[in-house]
Amino acid sequence: MELKLRCIDCGRETGPVVTYRCECGGLLEVSLDLKELKEVVSRELFDTRLNMGKFPYQSGVWRFRELVHPLLNDFEIVSRPEGNTNLYHHKALANFTGIEKILLKHEGENPTGSFKDRGMTVGISEANRLGMRVVGCASTGNTSASLASYAGLSNMKSIVFIPEGKIAFGKLSQALAYGARVLQINGNFDDAMSLVQEASERLGIYLLNSINPFRIQGQKTIIFELIQQLNWKPPDWIVVPAGNLGNTSAFGKAIYELKKLRLIEKTPRIAAIQAEGANPFYRLWKNKLKELKPLKKPETIATAIRIGNPVSWKRALRAIELTDGVVEQVTDQEIMDAKAIVDSSGIGCEPASAASVAGARKLLENGIIEKDDVVVCIITGHILKDPDSTINYHLSRLDNVKPRFANMPVKIEPNINLVKRYL
Ligand SMILES: *Cc1c(COP(=O)(O)O)cnc(C)c1O
Ligand SMILES: [Zn+2]
Repeated sequence: MELKLRCIDCGRETGPVVTYRCECGGLLEVSLDLKELKEVVSRELFDTRLNMGKFPYQSGVWRFRELVHPLLNDFEIVSRPEGNTNLYHHKALANFTGIEKILLKHEGENPTGSFKDRGMTVGISEANRLGMRVVGCASTGNTSASLASYAGLSNMKSIVFIPEGKIAFGKLSQALAYGARVLQINGNFDDAMSLVQEASERLGIYLLNSINPFRIQGQKTIIFELIQQLNWKPPDWIVVPAGNLGNTSAFGKAIYELKKLRLIEKTPRIAAIQAEGANPFYRLWKNKLKELKPLKKPETIATAIRIGNPVSWKRALRAIELTDGVVEQVTDQEIMDAKAIVDSSGIGCEPASAASVAGARKLLENGIIEKDDVVVCIITGHILKDPDSTINYHLSRLDNVKPRFANMPVKIEPNINLVKRYL
């Protein structure tokens, strides 16, 4: 089986060696021989592996190994295992969004609580194959939690660059606990990103930021798995929160490959949802700009998508065009209201994840999504990742967000009649 790294700008190809960018500066992507793979993979192959319980197929990533990283041997794979996340429906979500057939795919059910594990298992396994001993990333949180865990599992050193300012508590605590060396940079996310890139070039650290093409390979399996869960019948829409645009890119690549391999017929449409205060991709798409204009000071309560200069915008734009998709933006108010509904449905998510549900609602309002469409919203992270934002919402402590669905705790005297009143 063949695997090449191909430049998304000039098309130049190299073998899978330690490199992140083409000589021309373009990002690389993993390119597989789809003609050859077409003879090998089938719906049946992936379905048979579903309940095999055999390493590495119990993973929702490695079940699709031919489409992820066909070169790896079993002993090189580092898996917890990841994926196998559930699809949820709840009447309250249908009522809130106006979409009857809305489903939530909960990527917060991954081992470290976010979809980042799907990319990290592939990235760390590739680092393993290459014989790298130190891995690193710049991260606003979930990537570092995931990196630290997988590095710990495979006895690699991990080093994490985080920007100054608010980092959600759950995520930072994970990175520290799993044993990463955490460097807090006096600067924003983009500064942390530049520094980690320099460190990877000069200090031999294997870079596992989203520009690493193997992470994208793993994130494709969100789509593979969700379409398999729907008996290989794609939904009309897949709605995803969009920050650095790794997922949006991965989803486009996944759909392209599934079509080429004749594993699906219909093309599901991608809707990428940005936070209004961190919306450079939305502006690019809405105004049909030729180049992405970075935002200096991105601001949103949804820290996981608070990104001013998303590296993967070209690949993401291609994904939107390929699937006849759209880009939408939502306010922090809309995000936190949607989160309150997801949470009180018993499902729960971190703020960035709720952007998908808020976005779906808006797209229905705007007549883009129709009420009979099958819509899958990707819930990207677990509710416990960012407990502060949840508490502050319900206690009405957020500056720019009104808690429309607040659930305030009530103080009472120890008296049964008072309990009765609150029943
Ligand atoms: C990383 C992350 C995102 C953003 O995904 P991109 O691929 O960078 O667009 C959204 N939500 C959560 C919870 C994340 O961890
Ligand atoms: Zn190039």
